[in-house]
Amino acid sequence: MSRKQKQPRDRCAQLLDLVHSANLAMDFGTVLNTLLQGGRALVPCDGLSVLWLDKGHLSVLKSTGPTASLEGLTLPASQMGAAQPLLDGGRPVLVSDTMDDERWQRVPSRTPARSWLGVPLSVGDQIIGLVEWSAQEPERFGEGDVETAVLLGRHFAPLLHRAQLLDDTRRRLREAIEQQSEAEPEEDLAAELVPVVREALEFTDARHAFVFLSSGTRDRVRCIAAAGDEQERLARTTIRGDGTFGDWAVPGRRSQAWLGGGPSDREIMAGLGIGRALALPLRVGGQQVGLLGVAEPRRARSFSRDCVRIMTHLASQASVIIERNHQPERKSDGFDYEMVMRSSPLGVAVVNPVGDIQAWNPALTTLLSLSVRSMPAQNLSEFLATDDRLRLRHAVEEVSITGQRRQVEARLQSAAGDRRYVRISLAPAGAVSNGGGSVVLIVEDVTSLKILEQERVGHLRELREKHEQLQDLDRLRTQFVSNVSHELRTPLAVIKLYATLARRGRPEKQGFYLQTIEQETHRLETMVENILDVTRMDRGKLELQPELLATDEIIAQVLEVYRERAERKGIKMRNHAQRDVPHLWADRHHVIQMLTNLVDNALKYTPRGGNVWVAARQVRSKSGEILEIAVGDTGVGIPEDEHEMVFDRFYRGKSTMAESTGTGLGLAIVRELVTQHGGEVILNSQVGRGSVFRLRFPLSSGLGHEEPGPQDQLMGEGAGS
Ligand code: ADP
Repeated sequence: MSRKQKQPRDRCAQLLDLVHSANLAMDFGTVLNTLLQGGRALVPCDGLSVLWLDKGHLSVLKSTGPTASLEGLTLPASQMGAAQPLLDGGRPVLVSDTMDDERWQRVPSRTPARSWLGVPLSVGDQIIGLVEWSAQEPERFGEGDVETAVLLGRHFAPLLHRAQLLDDTRRRLREAIEQQSEAEPEEDLAAELVPVVREALEFTDARHAFVFLSSGTRDRVRCIAAAGDEQERLARTTIRGDGTFGDWAVPGRRSQAWLGGGPSDREIMAGLGIGRALALPLRVGGQQVGLLGVAEPRRARSFSRDCVRIMTHLASQASVIIERNHQPERKSDGFDYEMVMRSSPLGVAVVNPVGDIQAWNPALTTLLSLSVRSMPAQNLSEFLATDDRLRLRHAVEEVSITGQRRQVEARLQSAAGDRRYVRISLAPAGAVSNGGGSVVLIVEDVTSLKILEQERVGHLRELREKHEQLQDLDRLRTQFVSNVSHELRTPLAVIKLYATLARRGRPEKQGFYLQTIEQETHRLETMVENILDVTRMDRGKLELQPELLATDEIIAQVLEVYRERAERKGIKMRNHAQRDVPHLWADRHHVIQMLTNLVDNALKYTPRGGNVWVAARQVRSKSGEILEIAVGDTGVGIPEDEHEMVFDRFYRGKSTMAESTGTGLGLAIVRELVTQHGGEVILNSQVGRGSVFRLRFPLSSGLGHEEPGPQDQLMGEGAGS
């Protein structure tokens, strides 16, 4: 099956967006959903699941596609197909076909997927879970998918971990606040209500009497005063608004007097030792706040009209007592955050609207101990790098006034001089009062996340550059193919024509015809040689067979091949090689190839009437004695900004491209070959004046003559800069 492969750059950009949006999310669910949606978009599949690892067991946290039904499933990791080796090795596992995979065969409970790809989720060296992609057909996932999946896992693991910690801290904070409000001392109120409850018991002749009051923060009511046989057990009982009795008791649900005992209440009532009950609403300022009730263990007992009347009276009496004790507004400050703060693995602080620290937990001290300040400091912003202080102050102010949550990232002022980053989540500590309330700050060290982020951006940039390079190369290759076909066709056409002429043309011109055929064949040969050399270089198969070469002879030999062509073009070609120029220890074929390419170019890029010359001499350089062979011309020259690029493969000069033919390989091969010989090629050129290419070979092992040649001879007829 063919599937359109995403370009790496697309994937990378998508991944970047995903991680960015997940990074902004403040809860686990959102991060998880982003991972699932993104995972599906980046690596198309049928089923996609995120599994969490806990004590050797894997639980399916969330799953989409045909595997969605597995959500919530927990199994030992050993029973999850190829998951165990993944968890052991911490590396991705790709199963091309589960039918051929022995691990899969052993596990009958596994999903009927044919292709499977799993990557670990790890934080530090600890594996916290895995992400798995599955598909119904075999061989669905390729190498590119594995790479993307690994990146996804690597970036999302710390985000999931962080979101989980944040959720946990939030939950604990909420619980602490609820516990706090439930545990608020209402002893005075209870003491005042007890006589009313006792009266209710006495007048109605019931077994139990009680007052339930709303606890304010939840759908719950709590027994605040009780009398009768089960006084102890009833006191402090809490019930939820999820049955008829509970619904009635919860403010706002029912407001009429209630004679309970219906079947739906049986369970709740049995739990409280109640067979039948009579309850009246308690109201404060028109709002129901709880109930006053009497109850009997026997269901048969009924309450008379008089009972209801007396209870109504007592209920209004209780309501008055409650109203007197009622505090309309709970103070937002002054909650005891001790418990949550002590147990939170994240740094937690409570600050006033100007950011002064009122309370903090041990985790915060640990986190900030890296800073130049030490606890206790006046203001949290003192721990931050100067640039970030004002931002935090503004954020605290805003949260304390608007009650909206916010998030700030900042740099710590670090004692060690290293860069450490924190992310601070701000939320109101309680109800927002007019002057602004306290603010809870959850502070986490995100240095490693930041480093990851920086790495990710670097990685992305690298990928982009590579992609652009590949595109350039692709363009050059296409151009190369069209150039080569053109280049091959020209000499072939000439050869064909002159071969015909040689057979049928004038006999006295035979010599000329054959010479032309010979020249064009040489041109073809050079070109094919160049192409073959490039291929050999790419395969690492370029072998040097060095021998001792008479430099001047080699130069003369190459020039001889081009003599005819130079004459035809009206170009003067000279050999300035010193007669006593040292021999060269090199590969004959390669040296000829380099000189051929350079002389060929010099003739090609020099207009009629110009000069081309080759010189050779021994020079002394810092690194030792050098044999320099230069090829110069008085041709069109090369613009300064192309001096480097002309040595790149397939590169053809902008200004010369239109008028000349070529493959763009000549100079690239020259550079590669001279480098292979331990030498280098140097270019001097000026537009309109000409160019000089110098091949510099080190003269080692005493092969060359020692006396240096005349310095000026080289540039004698050249026009180099
Ligand atoms: P080709 O000549 O096939 O285009 P080369 O690799 O030999 O490829 O040269 C690359 C480019 O360098 C040429 O396209 C041309 O623009 C420039 N060049 C090479 N030699 C000379 C020269 N002697 N004078 C001017 N330009 C040159």
